[in-house]
Amino acid sequence: AKQKLQRIKTTKAMTVDGVAIDLLANIEVPEDVISAKASGAVGVGLYRTEFLFMNRTEMPDEQEQFEAYKHVAEAMKGYPVTIRTLDIGADKQLNSDEVVTATNPALGLRAVRYCLAEPHIFHTQFRALLRASHYGQVKILIPMLSTLAELRQTKLLLERAKESLRQQQLPFDEHIQLGGMIEIPAAAINADAFAQGLDFLSIGTNDLIQYTLAIDRADDAVAHLYNPLHPAVLRLIQLTIQAAEKYQKPVSVCGEMAGDIKLTRLLVGMGMRQLSMHPSHILSVKSQILQSEENVLSKQAKKILSLSDLDKIEPLIKKYNGEML
Ligand code: PEP
Ligand code: MG
Repeated sequence: AKQKLQRIKTTKAMTVDGVAIDLLANIEVPEDVISAKASGAVGVGLYRTEFLFMNRTEMPDEQEQFEAYKHVAEAMKGYPVTIRTLDIGADKQLNSDEVVTATNPALGLRAVRYCLAEPHIFHTQFRALLRASHYGQVKILIPMLSTLAELRQTKLLLERAKESLRQQQLPFDEHIQLGGMIEIPAAAINADAFAQGLDFLSIGTNDLIQYTLAIDRADDAVAHLYNPLHPAVLRLIQLTIQAAEKYQKPVSVCGEMAGDIKLTRLLVGMGMRQLSMHPSHILSVKSQILQSEENVLSKQAKKILSLSDLDKIEPLIKKYNGEML
């Protein structure tokens, strides 16, 4: 089966009725571009930069960050590379005394909140990202947005970083795209405003599920309740897709849902055209897409979205996936 999958490595991911889906790779360290390319990914949809900051006592400086981002941008030349700014806190802690131990880290000073509270960290990362944008198709992705105020402050800091590079006459992509993660229910419910204010959206289903269902994604005791098919989760994803469509902005899923072949048909049927996942899932997800008809999937998705009982959704998903899985 693995050999069979290898045959579709360079095949474009497209449904039988001609709807193209971009399958991108999630990476955590620059060396991951090797597996990303080997998987046939058409870009990096999520580069989690926090791994550059973890398990060390000192923060990486601008040059070290620049070299890491540039490496990925150059290695993926011709393809987009979406680099997420530092998403520290909760399940990903820094080894530094700068982070105060929070009573509830998942609801604490993490990700964009942390970076806005420590603007020098944001400034350094923005400068490194902007400098790397000269060497490839770099896009910037902001994690854990919940308010428009955060977005405005972020844009201000990004502009400040651009201005500092202009003054030093250091080259960067003046048209670099800025996207936001939709992974807090408030952002999904308010997705219209984020779609309007950003160049693209990316749905972080790992956190979106955690926050919507009040289930710690790392707690085994409640793992059986962590379900991406919960109707509330699906409706938040739908809201986000609709907002993106309304403002004609690209939207992707970069949480684990994107790499789950049981969910490929549903996501495509809901209108998702970009999925970013661990490279090891790309070929099997592509295989699902190659066997599907979008006009069938969209009808099935509509039916699923009309249901409010998870116990009715699950068997229907099984039925729709049919013999293919
Ligand atoms: C997510 O929350 O779905 C996501 C992609 O980000 P992370 O898993 O790094 O929190
Ligand atoms: Mg997340």
